[in-house]
Amino acid sequence: QAKAAGRNTLRFFDPDMQAAVTARALMEEDLRQGLQNNEFFLCYQPQVDVYGRMTGAEALLRWQHPRRGLVPPAEFIPLAEETGLILPIGHWVLSTACTQLLAWASSPEMAHLTLAVNVSARQFRHADFVEQVLAVLDHTGANPLKLKLELTESLLLDDVEDIIAKMTALKAHGVGFSLDDFGTGYSSLSYLKRLPLDQLKIDQSFVRDVLTDPDDAAIARTIVALAQSLRLDVIAEGVETGEQRDFLERNGCLAYQGYLFSRPLPLEAFERFQRGAEWEAQSSLPLQGEG
Ligand code: C2E
Ligand code: MG
Ligand code: MG
Ligand code: MG
Repeated sequence: QAKAAGRNTLRFFDPDMQAAVTARALMEEDLRQGLQNNEFFLCYQPQVDVYGRMTGAEALLRWQHPRRGLVPPAEFIPLAEETGLILPIGHWVLSTACTQLLAWASSPEMAHLTLAVNVSARQFRHADFVEQVLAVLDHTGANPLKLKLELTESLLLDDVEDIIAKMTALKAHGVGFSLDDFGTGYSSLSYLKRLPLDQLKIDQSFVRDVLTDPDDAAIARTIVALAQSLRLDVIAEGVETGEQRDFLERNGCLAYQGYLFSRPLPLEAFERFQRGAEWEAQSSLPLQGEG
């Protein structure tokens, strides 16, 4: 008992803190095990154009823990980043996504789809990042033009010359770049101008209240205008209602991702979703050679 040891003794044992440290250590060990035991899988969330046609998907990591059940990324990605486990996990995500891209390449309904993969700052910062991505593309045989890497603004705390060099090296092979959660981080406009990006992703926190909060509406419009003047594509994430989608369209944002179109889906459900959509689109066309 710290108190019993005398009034001048520093009280260092905090049971809450101790519990948190233990929980963290357990979770870290679980993450290691999880990777070994194949407990991770990817879900795919559709990205659609202004006609509602799917142009691509975002790969989102899921962890099916044997006891905890499905653990959302918000609960394990931060720890994976702190411990460095994001490096092997990120590699697994990238190679799984690229394997999927190659499989889709031979399917008429899927071949046109791009696949966006989230890359954490720690992963991108790794000295071998470029070589790792190129090796994965090489091993899997995926088309680099269909791969889009999602970076976040937290990356921009790093040496910007190094970031540009890495992005440029990958872009030379056809890989695309999107800036995720845009508007929530540290971007300065002068950096933004220099990064060889392809797309800005409007963060869902601005989309959520875009119809009711004039500030969010102004921010969403400003991001679209910024993307247009920098000649970048823009996509909105977290689109849940037709009204939000229509507001974004009226303001020049022509690509969307969100529950309005689909939740992130496990592979089979995602492929069924896309095949169903293609079939519907085909059957609504007038039949050729008749009438
Ligand atoms: P993010 O990259 O910004 O992904 C979008 C998140 O918004 C996903 O959460 C998605 O399920 C959710 N979302 C999509 N549409 C809607 C909507 O209409 N409404 C709402 N309320 N939410 C929507 P998720 O899958 O839980 O992922 C959370 C974050 O975890 C991701 O945010 C990303 O930062 C990170 N993450 C996920 N997978 C990976 C990965 O493979 N690697 C890394 N480094 N981070 C990942
Ligand atoms: Mg993302
Ligand atoms: Mg995001
Ligand atoms: Mg995020």
